[in-house]
Amino acid sequence: MDSKYRMYINGEWVDSESKETFDVINPTTEEVITEVPQGTKEDAKTAIDTARESFDKGVWSNKTPAERARVIWKLSDWVEDNADSLAKLESMNVGKTIKYSRDSDIPFIIDNLRFFAGCARILEGRSATEYSGMGTSIIRREPLGVVAAIVPWNYPLYIAVWKIAPALAAGNSLVIKPASYTPLTLLEFTEMVEKAGVPKGVFNVVTGPGEVIGSELASSKKVDMIALTGDTNTGKKIMQMASNNVKRLHLELGGKAPLIALPDADIETVAQGAVVGGFWNTGQDCTAVTRVIINESIYEKVVHRMVEKAKKFRLGNPLDKSTDMGPLVSERQRDRVEGFIKQGVDDGGKIIAGGGRPKHLKKGYFLEPTILKDTTQDMTVCRDEIFGPVIAVYSYEKLDDAIEDANDIDYGLAASVYGKDIAACMKVANKLDFGTVWINEHGILASEMPHGGFKQSGFGKDLSSYSFEEYTRIKHVYVDLTGEAVKSWHYTVFGGK
Ligand code: NAD
Repeated sequence: MDSKYRMYINGEWVDSESKETFDVINPTTEEVITEVPQGTKEDAKTAIDTARESFDKGVWSNKTPAERARVIWKLSDWVEDNADSLAKLESMNVGKTIKYSRDSDIPFIIDNLRFFAGCARILEGRSATEYSGMGTSIIRREPLGVVAAIVPWNYPLYIAVWKIAPALAAGNSLVIKPASYTPLTLLEFTEMVEKAGVPKGVFNVVTGPGEVIGSELASSKKVDMIALTGDTNTGKKIMQMASNNVKRLHLELGGKAPLIALPDADIETVAQGAVVGGFWNTGQDCTAVTRVIINESIYEKVVHRMVEKAKKFRLGNPLDKSTDMGPLVSERQRDRVEGFIKQGVDDGGKIIAGGGRPKHLKKGYFLEPTILKDTTQDMTVCRDEIFGPVIAVYSYEKLDDAIEDANDIDYGLAASVYGKDIAACMKVANKLDFGTVWINEHGILASEMPHGGFKQSGFGKDLSSYSFEEYTRIKHVYVDLTGEAVKSWHYTVFGGK
């Protein structure tokens, strides 16, 4: 591991022009891991100019799809060869458990790169033919130009790759801004990008505060698209800044996922799905189970099993293979989550698991897996995104009320339904206003399937060929076949028939 990282602009590892740096903290030990350049507006401008120039010269976009695919595939091999060290670094920086980063994040990153390497070679579009009857219409699918990717801290490399892979596969140039808490794996990955053969200037990384770097990326007229994963309020600010040159936007924002348990649902399956879906990544997941809405006939039994399971989570050093839950990413995030728990209690919720800091861990931003019962859909804990290990539970009598509650939220990212009658689950899924609905499962993603929200969870899809399309533009090229100076339709403008 490098003791001091640099930013990557125009194929060079550089300090910030200000020479300032900021500390990156290990949330388990509360100690400084390393320092990273505190990028400035000027650094962001340099990176944008570089990306623009590389795109305009066609150093990457002019390569054949097969050539681009080969480089991206090579990159995936580099990630595979370095899987253990990347997983370890991610765990250290985010606080996520090693079993999660090594066996979930990194394999998915590799698969995602390979999927999009394939996408580069199978461009989809309408067939070229004579739709007008007088000439041939051809669809060209082209890269957009400069894509700025702004990524969050909960899945630093994983979510960065969701944007990098389709953007590169489509032939774009990039400027990427990692979250300030978690820039390290992206910087390690950048070395692999260089070795895999992405040309100089095409791939740039600027570290530093969102308000400064992110704002420059969002407002620059030389940037063609912003791909953001982040908070809904950040998305709203970016929408405003991006309006100056009508940039394309791809916004993956917050979530507040419900889990609905139907009366015939298997109690063990619901309880397991709820705690795994609610507490993975220490609950810092936009699709995490946050509201468990259970039919009253099975409510007590499900809640009892959830509590038993929550109490068995092993909290500790995320680098220890047996640890189930690491710390939250920062002190600030833990304070925020504790504020929500307090608010939940003040509003009438009752803590039935966790609720505080684990006594056996003296250092680190740990918080126990927490379950609140006697909650209602109008409480803050059921409405706002907490982004921590906190689940609210309550019961319902009528299914229509449960569906109404599930949908009664500004977000629309993900939801799940549990029950043995699959037709009944399907009917509920059809009525849920969320971009993903799982049945008897919560949290599975696939490179081939789209991930993205409705409502204030944003728009645009990550993963899948739908995502690839978003990093391209479609051009209609028309070739006249009549060879006539006066076309048959010209009389509608000039002259007679
Ligand atoms: P955040 O919005 O604070 O930060 C996200 C990124 O935006 C960071 O790189 C940050 O530096 C940058 N940023 C912050 N303010 C900015 C500004 N004014 N202009 C430009 N850039 C700015 O989010 P976070 O705390 O890093 O991540 C958690 C959020 O991300 C949650 O809301 C979560 O739901 C969301 N998220 C969504 C998905 C999804 O797929 N929809 C996935 C993961 C996380």
